Amino acid sequence: MSDTEYMDTDPELSDEEDTQEDAADRFSAEFCNVSALDIRTKKVVTFQQVHKSETGGVSTRMELLGVQKIFTEFGIDQIGKVCIDKNLQVVAWLKQNEVEYSFDLWHNCRNINKKIKAQVKKLDGEEKELLKNLGRRFILHIYRSIENAAGDSDLAVQHVYSFFLHVLGIHEWRKSKLIELIDVSSIQKVGKGFKAIQFSNVTSCLHDEADDTFTKPVQPTSTAYKTMLQLVSNTPFVDDLRRLKEGNVTSFVESYNSVRIHYAPKRKFYKARGLEMRTMLSILDWNSIQDAELHGLRTETAHYQYFSKAKGEARMKTKKTGGAQFDQWKRELVSRVVAKKIEHGLGEPNFHDDEEIDGDDTHEIANYFDEIVNFDNSSSDVSDSDDNE
Ligand SMILES: [Zn+2]
Repeated sequence: MSDTEYMDTDPELSDEEDTQEDAADRFSAEFCNVSALDIRTKKVVTFQQVHKSETGGVSTRMELLGVQKIFTEFGIDQIGKVCIDKNLQVVAWLKQNEVEYSFDLWHNCRNINKKIKAQVKKLDGEEKELLKNLGRRFILHIYRSIENAAGDSDLAVQHVYSFFLHVLGIHEWRKSKLIELIDVSSIQKVGKGFKAIQFSNVTSCLHDEADDTFTKPVQPTSTAYKTMLQLVSNTPFVDDLRRLKEGNVTSFVESYNSVRIHYAPKRKFYKARGLEMRTMLSILDWNSIQDAELHGLRTETAHYQYFSKAKGEARMKTKKTGGAQFDQWKRELVSRVVAKKIEHGLGEPNFHDDEEIDGDDTHEIANYFDEIVNFDNSSSDVSDSDDNE
């Protein structure tokens, strides 16, 4: 196993994802699934499903427990660095255990998006529209900045904050502190980290996008601009930027989630076993695609251009398929699962144990899946299934 892991919390089961008061939401806090993906192979190497009852009924503690279980499973010294969704409890725990961590860009931007949205609600008319516009541009700008900085966190911060000059129509400036270049008197409490931002390398905008320069400059006195500035002026915000990991890490996690959602649709409630097995199926599916990719079995079937909303630009996409040779097993698997269910009829499958999550009390199917999702050769003897392995 590589020493770099990507930990992802099941987004559709996290508390903050849905604010609508519907069935999905009521159930959403019952379970939390934390997946670990290997950054090199992009395969899901393990996942842990946590039930609320394991954290004394407190759903906000489930994520940390899931992460802890994953570390326990691998051994804490076996995981070198992790890229995570920001969660304060998880961060504190990683610090305590001296694990190197970075933040997932996609999730970070989603959080920024939420904060901006909350402010948008407070505004009306032109200012409302302006804040929406600035918010969208800011998030795109963060993506571009992080990509451009290629791991240099200092450069990333300079690029990100150049946004606040750019939107005012300032595209070049002298080497100086940000607070010397813009009016910060409207900010309620200027963070230390914000005060310290210094344009030591970056003295002009990143843009090659001509359209951006044609956008009418924003007035520094506008509520929308001041609101944006307020949001980014605290030290934690600056610190988080320094920990952002390039976007490509997250794109495959999103892809995995999109596969998983086929097996465990958001709006449905599953019991622990059902959810666990659905997750396993999605891992089998996802990992088989990565395997095919790694072995060069996927052939390109089409090239096409599409407009990426996230990136705000046209991109080329390649459609690939591996053909029937590695898709056939999925149909086989699904038809067998369906046949098994029809045979069993309604209700819970017989596991001869309770609905309680019990790590030791596994069953044949789980063992079978365990073996397939396990990439560590030394521990393939966990299975007691009837296959002669
Ligand atoms: Zn500019």
